[in-house]
Amino acid sequence: MERFFNFAEKHFMKQDFLVVGLGLSGLAICEELEKRGHSFRVYEDNSQKSSFVAGGIFNPVILKRFTLAWDADEQLKVSIPFYQSLEQKLHIPLVHFWNIFRRFHSVEEQNNWFVATDKERLGEFLDTKLHQIDNPHISAPYSYGKVQQTGHVDTGKMLAAYRKYLAEKNSILFENFDYDQLQLEDGRVKYQDGHFESVIFCEGFGLRRNPYFQYLPLRGNKGEYITIRSRELQLKEAIKSSVFILPLGDDLYKVGATYDNQDKSPEITSQACERLVQQVRQVINCDFEVVDQVAGIRPAMIDRRPIIGRHPEHSNLYCCNGFGSRGVLAGPVMARQLLDFIDDQSGIDAEVDLNRFTKKYFQH
Ligand SMILES: Cc1cc2nc3c(=O)[nH]c(=O)nc-3n(C[C@H](O)[C@H](O)[C@H](O)COP(=O)(O)OP(=O)(O)OC[C@H]3O[C@@H](n4cnc5c(N)ncnc54)[C@H](O)[C@@H]3O)c2cc1C
Repeated sequence: MERFFNFAEKHFMKQDFLVVGLGLSGLAICEELEKRGHSFRVYEDNSQKSSFVAGGIFNPVILKRFTLAWDADEQLKVSIPFYQSLEQKLHIPLVHFWNIFRRFHSVEEQNNWFVATDKERLGEFLDTKLHQIDNPHISAPYSYGKVQQTGHVDTGKMLAAYRKYLAEKNSILFENFDYDQLQLEDGRVKYQDGHFESVIFCEGFGLRRNPYFQYLPLRGNKGEYITIRSRELQLKEAIKSSVFILPLGDDLYKVGATYDNQDKSPEITSQACERLVQQVRQVINCDFEVVDQVAGIRPAMIDRRPIIGRHPEHSNLYCCNGFGSRGVLAGPVMARQLLDFIDDQSGIDAEVDLNRFTKKYFQH
């Protein structure tokens, strides 16, 4: 994409906010800013891919242990309407509802599932019947449990359309935000030829390059997906066994994802591909070929909670990050909470406030 500002426009730029990064976090921040009538400019350099390659699945249940993911029922109530309103604004379908079928591996897992169906806040998402899927290529001797109120948001399509929307408004520059050029003076921010009230950093794992916030223990977790093609499989349901198998149509299925805390490189790896192929072979017994593979780094925090809030020393620098593997549900809720804090001085939940790490590094 091209740069969208000519020199004259840039020269007189004076705006409320500068936003660094347009993944799920940056998008939710921009929407919240626009709703509140704030002007803003975004910088996006394509250095991180997490939001683009994400499965986009929204699922309030942790399918390993059958527990409710942190605050997920509340996040669902805010986030799905948020994406549905974006569908109207961008004139494209984004939210797709379908059930997840969790393949049981033992009678013990079945029992754990039924115990979970009785739990407060969790039960509404777990169907109380055992399900069968009529497919000769998948054996499931212990049947399936059905998770409800789940589906996916087409994050790649949404971000592409949103970039276009911002570009048409001259609100985005497709270039690297250079931290060395940021000048903080008299309670305001100067960057290149623009003046801003504040900066909101939404760089995902790119935060590690940010001299103001890199003290935060963002550890990152690499994820990879493969896409397989199989004419024979003819699977209509989304299945979760050791991996997710998501039907995409046209005999294509998304399979994944991997979790890797060590490798922080952005490239796809043959090891991840082999692992996923091995895992899918344990579930389906027909031929398939791998036709695509993608990778991204999830911005995962050491304590698995987002990090939002204000820099302890620079009062006009903010951060909205740390969504880990749950950006779809967390993004809109965290953006709203951060803007409530900036605009109305309302408090940030201690659990997500970046100040939980600040004491260790700043003497205030
Ligand atoms: C394989 C995989 C599958 C996933 N599946 C799901 C899923 O099914 N459901 C779910 O909820 N979550 C999923 N996630 C997690 C989800 O993708 C993340 O939680 C979310 O994308 C994080 O969004 P973000 O905006 O904070 O970060 P990012 O997506 O990393 O976005 C940050 C943006 O900032 C830009 N940027 C960084 N530094 C700079 C700079 N200096 N200048 C300009 N621009 C900059 C980057 O280019 C990037 O566009 C998955 C992740 C992976 C890797």
